[in-house]
Amino acid sequence: MNSGGDLVEIWIPDGGFEIQRGKVKATDGSSAVTDCLVPKWSNDELMVVRPLHRQPCLHRVLADCRHDQIVKLANLYGLLTLTIPRKPEPGKAVHADLLPPEPLDVWHREIRALRAAAEMWDASKNRELVARRITERLARTSFHLIATTDGGGKIALRYRPTLLIDAIWQQFAREAAGIIHCARCRAPNCGRRFPRNDRQYCSRACRMRAWRQAGERTIEETLSSPSPLRGR
Ligand SMILES: [Zn+2]
Repeated sequence: MNSGGDLVEIWIPDGGFEIQRGKVKATDGSSAVTDCLVPKWSNDELMVVRPLHRQPCLHRVLADCRHDQIVKLANLYGLLTLTIPRKPEPGKAVHADLLPPEPLDVWHREIRALRAAAEMWDASKNRELVARRITERLARTSFHLIATTDGGGKIALRYRPTLLIDAIWQQFAREAAGIIHCARCRAPNCGRRFPRNDRQYCSRACRMRAWRQAGERTIEETLSSPSPLRGR
């Protein structure tokens, strides 16, 4: 099943985000001042990206995300729980001040939830509970039904999640269901997630680097080990 998560479209300001104190409304109607992700330049233009097209293993990337990497991740893939409600007219510039501030707490909460579920899944512990977490999380998801061409001259109907975080949980569900695989690159200084399970390295460059370093190690070990010929 293709869930349509890869179709999710998110708005990102050209100049990226930064952390600022901002006023946000809580669900009970009260407002509070807290650290938020906001566009760096308010007169910036927004561009649309398809985050899961860029990184199909985004659920794994987010689960691994450290506090100091949140801005970097938002600059690449956009905000988790906020978007522009209506699609602007084609050809018209969309300004960054249309994007509401997203509290950093939202990121912390989502990262914690995703990390806990992923760790439980990887440890093969309590899969029933993982399935329940995914179900609870996806029960709140809102979708648009959209028609796309399938390349063979036919029209395919697909569900596109409105929010990035819903698409991310869907992607986790797809990994848990065995539809996609997310490996971690084993090359030195990489660790990137990529959607394959039949390879150890994410790219040719990483494979070459790993081989080169393994080769250097072998030569060093050969040179440092006592030679049976030495001393004769
Ligand atoms: Zn790599």
